[in-house]
Amino acid sequence: MFARLALIGIGLIGSSIVHAARRAGIVDHFAISTRRAETLAEAEALGLGDSYHLDAAAAVENADLVIICAPVLAYQAIIERIAPALMPGAILSDAGSVKAHVVEVIRPHLPEGVHFVPGHPIAGTEHSGPSAGFATLFDRRWCILTPEPNADPAAVKKLSAFWRALGSHVEIMEPDHHDLVLAITSHVPHLIAYNIVGTVADLEHDTKSEVIKFSASGFRDFTRIAASDPVMWRDVFLTNRDAVLEMLGRFTEDLSVLQRAVRSGDGKKLEEMFTRTRTIRRSIIDAGQETAAADFGRPHGKPDGAG
Ligand code: NAP
Repeated sequence: MFARLALIGIGLIGSSIVHAARRAGIVDHFAISTRRAETLAEAEALGLGDSYHLDAAAAVENADLVIICAPVLAYQAIIERIAPALMPGAILSDAGSVKAHVVEVIRPHLPEGVHFVPGHPIAGTEHSGPSAGFATLFDRRWCILTPEPNADPAAVKKLSAFWRALGSHVEIMEPDHHDLVLAITSHVPHLIAYNIVGTVADLEHDTKSEVIKFSASGFRDFTRIAASDPVMWRDVFLTNRDAVLEMLGRFTEDLSVLQRAVRSGDGKKLEEMFTRTRTIRRSIIDAGQETAAADFGRPHGKPDGAG
């Protein structure tokens, strides 16, 4: 499908793209580029690429597909560096978790004849770096593409086929709409997780060790999300501010309603709310985006150190 894929950034997402594209046999040459020599050496030790470049411009030379897989606030420097080296006819894409900001940053630098099709795979884990990737990360997960209205349909079709070959479903969306949807499905949940885990971090020592000890009662599920990469998430909140604030506003209003129900002992209100939310979980399982196994399929019945 592509003769040379240049990946700018080789963390969880970049390395997972390599594994999934190798599994599908759709790329001849993987050109890997990243900022730090240590990360590049790690990628090389893992045998992820066919060539390795500290200079992103060298990686994109003759590449018919370029995917930026770095934190969003790194894009400005990256596009300034690679723009003159992009091959006419190449597709330039990315994996960034916000889209309107990405379009704003990339568009002014886009050379004539290069097809820009931004993307966002809705798949991830709390791990980062070149060793975090795996081939099945994108299987049955959505990849959202946000091409501009005048984008070349053939380029959009080819990139869609690429993501399908990686195991994804593909959806086309406007960047602003993407940012609003992701604010409530991903960004605000991360903020809530960072907040609740932060609240525990501020507790006095004795209480904190009890929270850790009894965390299987719910708290630990927030800690998975709150262990996500700090730089990536800092960039998400700095670049999707309006949509996050809009959804956070709704969230805090709803939280006040729940707070009032707890304070006034309104059992009917609480039960109604908890019944509605159960239905949402069932529909996520029905949509194939989550396992139906109890407790996320965690093993039970074995000693697990929980004491
Ligand atoms: P990651 O594992 O932390 O890897 C980030 C990569 O970007 C590393 O190779 C890092 O290289 C490089 N990088 C960091 N700062 C850079 C800079 N200033 N200039 C150039 N390169 C830089 O991150 P990831 O999880 O793969 O995320 C990559 C992108 O995918 C982000 O935009 C994120 O929003 C998006 N995304 C993430 C997830 C997720 O769940 N993690 C899901 C969907 C989309 P060095 O080590 O050399 O600095």
